[in-house]
Parts: sequence; C-alpha cells; structure tokens
Amino acid sequence: MAPRIALEPGMTSRKSLLFVVGIAIGLPLVLAVVTTIHHFFQIRSDIEDTFRSRSELLTRFIGVNRDRVTVMKNLISERYQAEGAQGGQAFEIRQHPAENVWSISAGTSGAAGTVTGKMPLPLSAEQAREIRAAFGMDAQIRAARQFDAEVVWLYYQSASQFIYLAPDVPFKDFHFTPELYTQRYWLEAQPARNPARRMVMAGPYQDMAGKGWIITFAAPVYAGERLMGIVGLDTRLETLQQLARVGDAPGHSMMVSENDRLIDSKAAYDPKARLHPPLSTTLIDWRSDQSGDLWLSSQIVEDELWLVHRVKRSEVYLAVARESLLQWLSLALLSLTLITAWRLRLSRDEVRRMTQIDPLTKVLNRRGFYDKVPALLALGQRKHFPVAFMLMDIDFFKKINDVHGHDVGDSVLRQLGAHLQQARRPFDLVCRWGGEEFVVLLMIDDAKEIAAVAERIRQEAQKARIDETGKTITLSAGLVVIQSGESVDAAIKRADLLLYEAKQSGRNRIVADLDDLVGTGDTGR
Ligand code: GH3
Ligand code: MG
Ligand code: MG
Repeated sequence: MAPRIALEPGMTSRKSLLFVVGIAIGLPLVLAVVTTIHHFFQIRSDIEDTFRSRSELLTRFIGVNRDRVTVMKNLISERYQAEGAQGGQAFEIRQHPAENVWSISAGTSGAAGTVTGKMPLPLSAEQAREIRAAFGMDAQIRAARQFDAEVVWLYYQSASQFIYLAPDVPFKDFHFTPELYTQRYWLEAQPARNPARRMVMAGPYQDMAGKGWIITFAAPVYAGERLMGIVGLDTRLETLQQLARVGDAPGHSMMVSENDRLIDSKAAYDPKARLHPPLSTTLIDWRSDQSGDLWLSSQIVEDELWLVHRVKRSEVYLAVARESLLQWLSLALLSLTLITAWRLRLSRDEVRRMTQIDPLTKVLNRRGFYDKVPALLALGQRKHFPVAFMLMDIDFFKKINDVHGHDVGDSVLRQLGAHLQQARRPFDLVCRWGGEEFVVLLMIDDAKEIAAVAERIRQEAQKARIDETGKTITLSAGLVVIQSGESVDAAIKRADLLLYEAKQSGRNRIVADLDDLVGTGDTGR
C-alpha cells in the first residue's frame, strides 16, 4: 500500500517548530545584535578615551614648557632689575673676525650656555647688565636640560644683537647670525604683532643647528615699554608626535598648527601638507566631513595648535565586527545546535508515528497497538476496570471493492478510521488489525456499560459512506473482556471466534463474551 500521508509535522508541531526556530534564531540574534551595539559604543568610547588622554598629554606637555618659559622670563626680568647698571662680573670675550661676531665662553662665565653676539665692543654697562640678567635663567635651564630630552634649546635672544643659548655649543656649530631676527618666533613677538605680550608658539621649522623639526615657545621680555628680547624654548616636534599616538584605538590622531599645517603623528613632518578638518571647541563632539569620515578635535593651544582624530566609518565597523565576531560565531552555533536538536526530536517523533500509525486510516497499526496496550492493561488492573477487546470486520467489503472500485474501498477504510477515532474515549485504543479488520480496546469503569459502549462505537463506525446516495457500511464484531493472566493475543483470538459467530448469525452485530461480568450473549440486532 502506497503511503498516503506525507511525513510532515502536524499542525501543533509545525507551530512549535516555528516557535523553536523563532527562539533558536531570534534569541541568539537579539543577543548578537545587543552585543554588537554594545561593542559599537565600547569602541566609540575607547576612541574617545584615547583621544582624551592624547589631548591631555599634549596640553600638559605644552603647559610645562610654557611654564618653563614664563619662569625663565621672570628670572631674567628680576635679575635685570636687581643687577642695576653698575659693576658686576667681567666676561672673557673672544672675537671671531671671520664671522664678524664675538662670544663669551661658558667656562669663564660659569653659565650653562654660550653668549654670542654682534653688538660693538667694548660692551656698555647696560649691555653687560642685560647679559648678566640672561644668566639668571640658568637654574631653570639646568633643570630642564637634566630631566627633559625633548627640550632642544633654551635661549634668550636680545633685541640688541646677542643670544644666550643653552646647552653650550661649540662656536663652529652655532653662533650669532642676523638670520635669528627673521625667525617667525621673533617676528611674532614684536609689539606691533603681539601687543598683549603673550607667549607665542612657532613652528614646526628646521633647527638652524641641524637638530631636526622643532617647535618654539617664545615669550617677550620687556624693560618698561621696550622689548628687550625674547625667551625661547625649542622642543622636538617628534615629542608632540609621540604624545599624539599614545594608546591604541581605531583611527589616526594628527595635529594642525597655524595656517592649517598638518603635523601627522605617524609620518615625518611635511611642511607642505595641509589639513582642514571639521573642528569643535567641545572635546568630545563627533563631527563628520564630506567623505563621511568621523572627527574629534581638541584645541591644545588657542589659535596655534589643534589635536584632531580621524576615523573612517569602515574602520569603526571593522573594529566592531572584529570584536563581535566570536560572539556571532558562538551564537550562530547555538542557533544551529538548537535547531538541529529540535529537528532531531521532530524526526524521531515522525519515525515513531510512521512506524506506529497506519498511513491509510491514521489509527494505530499492530506495532503501535502492542506498544500502548500494556500500560492500559496495568492501569485497568490497578483501578479494577475491566478491559475489553472488540474485533470488528466490515461486512461484504470485498463486494464494495468489486462494485465501486478499490479507491472507494480505501475511502471507506479512511472514513471508518476517522469515525472510530472520533468515537473512542481518551483511554480507548483503535487499531487497524489488518485489511478491513479493526480492534478497539475499551476500558470502562462500570462493567455493565461495556456492551452499550461497544455498540455505540460500532454504530458510529457504520457512518462510513460508500457512495453519494448515502449508503453506509455495516460491521460485525466479537467482544471479550480480557481475563486476568490471559494474553492479548488469546483475548483477540477469542474475539475472532465471536466475530465468526457474528458473521454466521447474520452479520451487522456484536457477539460478546462478557463472562461473569454481564453474561454471555448476542447484543446485536
Ligand atoms: P465478510 O462480510 O465475510 O467479511 O466479507 P468480506 O468481503 O468483507 O470478506 P473478505 O475477507 O472476503 O474480503 C475482504 C476484502 O477486503 C478483501 C480485500 O481485497 C479487501 N481489502 C483488504 N485491505 C484493503 C485495503 O486496504 N483497501 C481496499 N480497498 N480493500 C482492502
Ligand atoms: Mg475480513
Ligand atoms: Mg469483511
């Protein structure tokens, strides 16, 4: 017989399949999305934290150097006031005719640096006073030189043609030159350009003595209304670049100095490189440019130096993906495991259905019947309920097949199965015993009811119609109550004999052997 029922889950298991798939995919998906969003914010805050530290480091570094310059400026001013125009130490001055300049060696002055200048000799008392005042920076110079490798030069450059430069450097490597007065820090410090007398920051530019790219902090020193000179501190650009790449986060920090000059933190300084990032005076204030890149910015020195951080959206997504990948993988695995486990359960149930259910009539086959009977027998024994077996057979079924065809026969069997299923009570079993024979197991608490219940079921089953005219079938049956110690097969064998009797005695009836329970007798019509 060709299996006519598709091996697919029934309505309820289809619903629960949807439920399980929903849970198996939905839950991990929600978890994955939540962790991904979490990672997104985590990465964004990592970038913000890194940027904040870089900004703080640069601000502090620059603050320290500005403080140094301020201290040196104050030291010079104080010393200048204190010295007075008279007396003081004499210097050993060496003239260098070839260069048309002179120098005072550090050795004779006891100073930390060298004075070299061009003012006419001999020096006037006022000039000597200014040079001695410049030596006033020494305490600060020594401290700075001792602790900070990033400080390249400390100096006092006088408006009257001399410079005091530390550390001490051989005359052949550096000496006074009029070029000093064309440098940006000098020009920027002039009263016309800088009436507020504030500290200026200049650079990056190449050090005249060949120490690479430097940045200068310069503060003007005034004697009353007269600009006497400037105090300068040169620091390595490389130090700023290092500070701008401290820590690790997606993206790239850079600095922008005046005139949009780009100071990359990861590449050598290129004086021609320019950058116009979107700027904000708020520290953590994400901006995006035309190409969609995201920017943070921080003003390190007003109008002079910005720290900016650029991160491409794709970098953020990539970082998020990298962070979330493991979670996604394990959650996908979880999904897969849940679904597989469910599918396995489902196919196990399907296999069980397939092996225990008759595909045509959808009632139990013998295997299913034998599987379930013992539990019911045990229950009956425990509760002292009689358990009856009714073996039913369609009357003249062969004729139905012959007259109406095998398909009609099948349809009758199908209907019969459906009617029996509908008629049975929760603890009853319906089994297609074979061909057009069915066994119904009945468990009834009141023994006197057995015959009536069996007859009711038989009547229900007889509603199976043969054709459109409404012609129905009749059934003959044998009914027994299983005895204690009797096997199921033996009981059915007895029922079979009674069925034969029913057939012999005119069909369309039940012949029952209800033993001591209700007595033996023909309950049929
Ligand atoms: P009786 O009243 O004595 O039982 O007569 P009957 O014709 O029903 O008895 P018989 O055992 O001679 O015929 C049973 C028929 O049932 C024979 C067989 O072809 C038919 N049959 C058995 N299984 C199926 C089935 O799955 N489908 C169809 N259409 N017919 C079946
Ligand atoms: Mg038969
Ligand atoms: Mg028959």
